[in-house]
Amino acid sequence: MGKFKVIDIDLQTNKLVDKLRAISNYTSALADELEEIDKIACPSCGSALDIETLFADDIIIQKNFSCKKCVIQSGLDLEK
Ligand SMILES: [Zn+2]
Repeated sequence: MGKFKVIDIDLQTNKLVDKLRAISNYTSALADELEEIDKIACPSCGSALDIETLFADDIIIQKNFSCKKCVIQSGLDLEK
């Protein structure tokens, strides 16, 4: 005979909705960032660039781009 375990899940609907909204905000921001990454390609070889984002107090202060193939481009501002 198998063992059965009863798991009580206390769903507080209000908090669940808040949590889902928080997840939604993050996934939306993540999708935007992934879309941005897809757009940025190495000007020399066309490969996808690695992006290193530096934050200070949740504000982006610098983005560094680098190409694994060319091993260059660090610190280029390709967003302009
Ligand atoms: Zn490259």
